[in-house]
Amino acid sequence: MINHLRTKKLLLLLLTTVVFMSCKQEKEEAPMVDNLLLKEWTGPYGGVPAFDQMKVEDVKDAMLLGMELSLKDIDAIANNPDAPTFENTIEEMERAGEELDRGFSYYGILSSNMSTPEFRDIQTELAPLFSEYQSKITQNEKLFQRVKTVYDNAQENPLDADQQRVVELTYKGFAMNGAELDKEKKERYAAINKELSSLYTKFSNNVLHDEENYITYLTEDQLGGLSDGFIKSAAKIAADKGQEGKYAITNTRSSMDPFLTYSTERELRKQVWTNYYSRGDNGDEYDNNQLIADILKLRRERVELLGHKNYAEWRLQDRMAKTPENAMNLMEAVWPAAIARVAEEVADMQAVANKNGDKITIEPWDYRYYAEKVRKAKYDLDSDEVKQYLQLDKLTDAMHYVAGRLFNYNFTPVPEGSVPVFHEDVKVWEVTDKDSGENIGLWYLDPYARQGKRSGAWATTYRSHTTFDGKKNVLASNNSNFVKPAPGEALLVSWDDATTFFHEFGHALHFFSSNVKYPTLNGGVRDYTEFQSQLLERWLSTDEVINQFLVHNKTGEPMPAELVTKIKKAATFNQGFTTTEYLASAIMDMKFHLADPTDIDVDKFERETLTALKMPKELPMRHRTPHFGHVFSGEGYATAYYGYMWADVLTSDASEAFAEAPGGFYDKEMAEKLVKYLFAPRNSVDPAEAYRMFRGRDAKIEALMRDRGFPVTTE
Ligand SMILES: [Zn+2]
Repeated sequence: MINHLRTKKLLLLLLTTVVFMSCKQEKEEAPMVDNLLLKEWTGPYGGVPAFDQMKVEDVKDAMLLGMELSLKDIDAIANNPDAPTFENTIEEMERAGEELDRGFSYYGILSSNMSTPEFRDIQTELAPLFSEYQSKITQNEKLFQRVKTVYDNAQENPLDADQQRVVELTYKGFAMNGAELDKEKKERYAAINKELSSLYTKFSNNVLHDEENYITYLTEDQLGGLSDGFIKSAAKIAADKGQEGKYAITNTRSSMDPFLTYSTERELRKQVWTNYYSRGDNGDEYDNNQLIADILKLRRERVELLGHKNYAEWRLQDRMAKTPENAMNLMEAVWPAAIARVAEEVADMQAVANKNGDKITIEPWDYRYYAEKVRKAKYDLDSDEVKQYLQLDKLTDAMHYVAGRLFNYNFTPVPEGSVPVFHEDVKVWEVTDKDSGENIGLWYLDPYARQGKRSGAWATTYRSHTTFDGKKNVLASNNSNFVKPAPGEALLVSWDDATTFFHEFGHALHFFSSNVKYPTLNGGVRDYTEFQSQLLERWLSTDEVINQFLVHNKTGEPMPAELVTKIKKAATFNQGFTTTEYLASAIMDMKFHLADPTDIDVDKFERETLTALKMPKELPMRHRTPHFGHVFSGEGYATAYYGYMWADVLTSDASEAFAEAPGGFYDKEMAEKLVKYLFAPRNSVDPAEAYRMFRGRDAKIEALMRDRGFPVTTE
């Protein structure tokens, strides 16, 4: 569904965990820090990172020293002879880790935007050290006892609401990770984690092996239906692999998906499909089925140490959904409509096949191919025509316009050379309040693809808003992978890419609008943080944006109404496929973690669960279990894959509130509520509570059903 988010979320998780756990104390005899990557930021706008001076050779020393300083501070907090208070324990922890935080800002750029083989070596070397560093904090008994005392006292005598929430989040963070266990159980807990971390690595390496080793090579006469661009790149990949004159279809989504959509060679489609959906499931030494069973058992054992029935229950306690039942209820409510729509889509496709004289029955390797034919016939939407109205510069202006209307922000390019950047293509804007002129922060945009930059699009911060130690402004960035146009040429993008561009800007606005006092309250809740960014996507198709900014790159004419209508009409196309393939994976994720893992047969469990769900035979799960990396190559999305749909329920429901308001998507009162309740509080208020204040009630599922073109059943 939202591919571009995944890696980012994992990265954020790592960073926020480290930030949350890292500590530093203001001390007069603090050691002199010479390493540039740890040094205080100087210059305009409250100080900015010296991106123009960072060097890969400084990274290792910087991170090692940063961790050392941080651990010293942890010790200082843990060993404080005074009785634990909010100020001397929690607030000190919030204040801590400044050097390491700064180090991570550079580290993030070097790993995501400017990676090199040298840096990847350093990364491999540092990864286990980061993990050890975190354990040293989570298992620090004295520190935890102080946190617990503050927490217990706060249960008796509540602090200010935001302080209370910081204390609770901090305490629960420790408790959820085993800080309350006795010595013996703690040792077992750490041993399980260590074993799991190597199973996770093995799981990903097995998938990677199968991705690299099942390549389908085509000959000249097997290229029917494929575009010139696709053929050229397939030829290059084949040549790079020593198969000059052939065409390589690699075993990855970016290669499989377009091939299955356009290739006229049905037998080859079947082969490519089979390779892709068998990753990690080939019955050889790279097969993941046993690994998954082992992972499930260890996860169950670990949460049982904490007194929980199953992994899902443990994981969801601090999520918006709160319980696995709530998450399952949502998925099961949408499922029947999704599979019913698949049946309709299959019937449409079968009709097209019959009309073409193709004597076939729709199989999973036919779905994308015939869906594309139905799309052309039904919606007559030419994606190239749409592109002519989507210029990156104009879209950037459009986002700034929306931010002005909703958030009262002004975006002004900073004077050339006044803010250091890590690449000449990065542009920086100052963000100010329209009325007061007050500086909110800086917005960095790194739009183009380059060697060493990871794929997809993401948003991040170099500095977040807090006020507990003096007001800090926000340094936020958006990152994409558009192909850089020739000088003077407009960069034209697809409707999907324009939507993603707005999506990531939504994350940036969420960062800018924060009004929290303490850093911990800037954190995200996995099934809630995509909501704000998904919601902002909706402003792309407002009349104000279309008429002013979606203008033809040659004629300057706004996008014609008929084209807008076609785009909106096609929005519900193929939702049976999209929703079903996603939900099958999300439900499977949850069911695996609710089931008893003793003697579990993973392959059989998957088959039986799909049968019980009445999974349509014409399509597979988006991620079959043996290669479901979100869930088994780490814990980032384990029992959390449902979160995309959870956030989407809120998105659909909230956007209906705008659609119904007197001023529509630019209604002043609604905009104020949006900022006040949905964006500014970040995690300082319980998300469900925040949403209720915005909407006057809980979100209802009906809006999501309407958005996907599914029938809304009345209860
Ligand atoms: Zn996102």
